Amino acid sequence: MIELRDDMTAFESVNYFFHKAAQAAELDQQTCEVLSGTYREIRVQIPLRMDDGTVNTVYGYRVQHNGARGPYKGGVRYHPAANLDEVRALASLMTWKTAIVDIPFGGAKGGIQVDIGELSQSELERLTRRFMSQVSYIVGPHRDIMAPDMNTNAQTMAWMMDAYGQSKGHTPAIVTGKPVPLGGSLGRDAATGRGCVIVLNELVRDLGKRPDGLTVAVQGFGNVGSWAARLAAEEGYRVVAVSDVRGAVYNEKGLDIEVLLGHAREAGSVADAPDTETMDGDAILELDVDVLMPAALGEVITKSNADRIRAPLIVEAANHPVTPVADEMLRDRGTTILPDILANAGGVTVSYFEWTQNIQQFSWDEEQVNAELHKRMSNAYQQVRDYAQAHDVDLRQAGFALAVDRVADAAHLRGYV
Ligand code: NAD
Repeated sequence: MIELRDDMTAFESVNYFFHKAAQAAELDQQTCEVLSGTYREIRVQIPLRMDDGTVNTVYGYRVQHNGARGPYKGGVRYHPAANLDEVRALASLMTWKTAIVDIPFGGAKGGIQVDIGELSQSELERLTRRFMSQVSYIVGPHRDIMAPDMNTNAQTMAWMMDAYGQSKGHTPAIVTGKPVPLGGSLGRDAATGRGCVIVLNELVRDLGKRPDGLTVAVQGFGNVGSWAARLAAEEGYRVVAVSDVRGAVYNEKGLDIEVLLGHAREAGSVADAPDTETMDGDAILELDVDVLMPAALGEVITKSNADRIRAPLIVEAANHPVTPVADEMLRDRGTTILPDILANAGGVTVSYFEWTQNIQQFSWDEEQVNAELHKRMSNAYQQVRDYAQAHDVDLRQAGFALAVDRVADAAHLRGYV
């Protein structure tokens, strides 16, 4: 068991939640040791040739956490703060996430410590190709499959697929979240945000409420945040505030998400969008709304602001947005949290659909993708909720308990531990 502290690293934090569930399930010591550690970690040096001919050395990571249930699976993020500990934490979250939605993958994650704001498109492309070729000996369509995360997108995946294919032959299933013309799945772009709204709807229904008029604030307006905001508004929620790295906007009557998307496309940020009031970026977390969706960075709700969070429902669209200390503080105050390993699992679920379509060389229409996603996310929510009710624990502990049980079972059946 890890002692609850203020200054836990991201990986210690995820393992804190893991150990809590493992202890409640009386998981044996050896299995605990295997499941709380990572299988393989690599750091690669990437000498990046800049457009002006100079070389800038950056570092990239790939961590494979656990592969008991299938090939390793997880995104790659480009961020100045990416580091090995964070990538380990994100990789382990992937193990628990794929188990909760019951798809046949393990967990992995990648990261490159870089500020993409300082790179041209051609520098970004060289960086991506170099990283892929350096990790190519540990990835593969039945070994480890990458996907987009913060500051990476379908174009990044297209470069990765192409770089891998240069030595191994055409292999679309090596990455998911690709552009549709290259074998990407319809519906993948929206999938993480859509999954968040599906589980939110389930929770709202269980609480005997309706989406209409419930107010929502979304931190982050990238892939996940913008789709979550758009689909929540379509369901009838009143999305009153959204933010990105450059600012936050508010409209008490509800924001017009289509207008915001257009403004963000042109101006590069939601800041100063028409018919909005500007507000302080961090203050969005403390708004008096019914639902708060952190959809940007990790560790944004901590001991220092947890007692100022007013939303009674939090949907963890981002990975690890709430630290363990803040999690306890919020629980004591009766806040309900839909945990990351459930709430944002829609992305990896449709990545799984994309992978199966690539392997079968047969594509699904968007209706089928969305219907299957709906089924998987609703089932996962209901299983987590039922476990929570039966064992009188919160949704995070219930999610970890179910996931740990499935991964431990697979590891035992294989004779791995
Ligand atoms: P993205 O790069 O598309 O968007 C990130 C957004 O966060 C941008 O709008 C950016 O401006 C904003 N942001 C960054 N720093 C901020 C700050 N300090 N304050 C406010 N906003 C800030 O990334 P994404 O793919 O949408 O990922 C967002 C989160 O969701 C991450 O935690 C990621 O791990 C998680 N996630 C993503 C997926 C996926 O399919 N892309 C799946 C599961 C989880």
